[in-house]
Amino acid sequence: MHQMTLAEIARGLADKKFSSEELTKVLLARITRLDPQLNSFISLTEDLAIEQAKAADARRANGESGALLGAPIAHKDLFCTQGIRTSCGSKMLDNFKAPYDATVVAKLAAAGAVTLGKTNMDEFAMGSANESSWYGAVKNPWNLEHVPGGSSGGSAAAVAARLLPAATATDTGGSIRQPAAFTNLTGLKPTYGRVSRWGMIAYASSLDQGGPLARTAEDCAILLQGMAGFDPNDSTSIDEPVPDYSASLGESLQGLRIGVPKEYFSAGLDPRIAELIQNSIQQLQKLGAVIKEISLPNMQHAIPAYYVIAPAEASSNLSRFDGVRFGHRCENPENLIDLYKRSRGEGFGAEVQRRIMVGAYALSAGYYDAYYLKAQKIRRLVKNDFMAAFNEVDIILGPTTPNPAWKLGAKNSDPVAAYLEDVYTITANLAGLPGLSMPAGFVDGLPVGVQLLAPYFQEGRLLNVAHQYQLNTDWHTRTPTGF
Ligand code: GLN
Repeated sequence: MHQMTLAEIARGLADKKFSSEELTKVLLARITRLDPQLNSFISLTEDLAIEQAKAADARRANGESGALLGAPIAHKDLFCTQGIRTSCGSKMLDNFKAPYDATVVAKLAAAGAVTLGKTNMDEFAMGSANESSWYGAVKNPWNLEHVPGGSSGGSAAAVAARLLPAATATDTGGSIRQPAAFTNLTGLKPTYGRVSRWGMIAYASSLDQGGPLARTAEDCAILLQGMAGFDPNDSTSIDEPVPDYSASLGESLQGLRIGVPKEYFSAGLDPRIAELIQNSIQQLQKLGAVIKEISLPNMQHAIPAYYVIAPAEASSNLSRFDGVRFGHRCENPENLIDLYKRSRGEGFGAEVQRRIMVGAYALSAGYYDAYYLKAQKIRRLVKNDFMAAFNEVDIILGPTTPNPAWKLGAKNSDPVAAYLEDVYTITANLAGLPGLSMPAGFVDGLPVGVQLLAPYFQEGRLLNVAHQYQLNTDWHTRTPTGF
């Protein structure tokens, strides 16, 4: 039962082959048995899950239908869940029970999805390895000595290990696509503004976007359908009709213009990944796509710009966790300043503190023009590169990551080494564009992802290309040994 995709589960439930309650119990037992190896969950919500599964079964018995009605999922632990711990992977919020549901959580619950639990993540979504979580590192089911990627490493590891079919995640600089690549999943970061950020604890508000992590493009379409849409509670949410994503999966790729940026194949890319990317290009050519070399000349400036803008926004967003209004409070403070200092010093981990300091520095009076403003100008140049490219091509293709998943601990002493691994993903966030990563093969037994980028609101196009590719390849069906 645990091998089923969301699409298969929807068919099985509709055909009354099993009930949501039966499936939910099987998966909860599987999580209890296998997750100690992975550490992919921070909280399990068994009682809520059984209650929601029973309710979904009752709705089906009353004649209701829907792809998510009775489908088991989990939420990255930065989506607020009413009455349930919402930790953001931090000691700061270890005892925080959200007083309301995030829009994404409420929408999926209304569609009948069943919440099995809250997944582990890098603290405040800062990281590329899921090693900065206060709840401990997450392991990659493909090799337990390797990282699953981050910051949505818990959602990725759990779905890859077949503990559940799909999960929500968020992507500020790659946190859906990079863990998808590292664990052999399909993950979609939607256009900025497509999915509501209300109730999604902020890291860098101008970059953060929620999206689906699943094994197939078909399942990402189902989950995105339940997440997307205008939300008056989020002023950056865009009032644009939501297409039927599953209906967009049948289109031919004949004549599809794929742009391959020449900058993507520079020295930093593992040559074995480069070869797998070339294979995926050939596969898409066989399906009728036309390949065109393009250029994204400002890509080289994207990492420095991102690592100024994201920490700057984080330093502002995280100021609310002061031990008074929100978050951990230290014992016996001597005065107010001591309370702030010790509460934040105890509540935040090293990576979060580093970013708050970098961000506060970049925003300070003497340095604002030199760093923050300069980074914003680069951001515009990165966006302009994409706009020029999309005049000539329909999608852009390349690797998701320069290397496969590294060993646990390998980059802990050098934060910049980890930042450099984001080179292919962060440009989409800077420009606000949708991006998808899908399985493209293996290097030393570790999965490799190919990334597709599209113009604004063309999530359907990305999902269709990935679906056509998956109809003709079987990388996405491979299962890690032991799971
Ligand atoms: N690795 C990037 C960072 O640490 C992206 C994280 C994310 O997308 N949440 O900022």
